[in-house]
Amino acid sequence: MKNLYIDFDGVIVNTIDITYKMANSLGIKKDYTNYLQFFQNLNWEEVLEQAKPINDSFNEIKKIINSHKFNVFILTHVTSIHEAEAKIKLINRYLENITIITVPKSISKTKVLNTKDAILIDDFPPNLDDWEKSGGIGIRFDLDLDGKGHQVIDRLSQIIYFF
Ligand SMILES: [Mg+2]
Repeated sequence: MKNLYIDFDGVIVNTIDITYKMANSLGIKKDYTNYLQFFQNLNWEEVLEQAKPINDSFNEIKKIINSHKFNVFILTHVTSIHEAEAKIKLINRYLENITIITVPKSISKTKVLNTKDAILIDDFPPNLDDWEKSGGIGIRFDLDLDGKGHQVIDRLSQIIYFF
């Protein structure tokens, strides 16, 4: 069985849309330091209350688990412990017995686990580029099916038919 890592923001739930709107309405400058501060001070319970699963993502993950083709993990970047807590609580509401790995935003996802032949589903192309450079298989999640150089899906269970 291959290890399959699924990103959270912009893949499982639409938090990117929500935080982007919040940042815009507050006039947050789009540089790294300002954005990082904005994310560190966010009320993640509020964000996740507004967030919606993308294309039935939680049921799609159940389908992937039930295919018995993959060891499934959720792999998400976080900017604070508070963000990690809120995300873990939300995921546990929908999925039992899933392994959730939270990675500090400043560290590449490739640095916390063995990426060799492991699959990453992520919406952010630089994460996929990094992943493939370190021996993994990158699959882009994008609702417009724009792979940006990677294989692409818009429903998570499509991954079952790739392997
Ligand atoms: Mg993402």
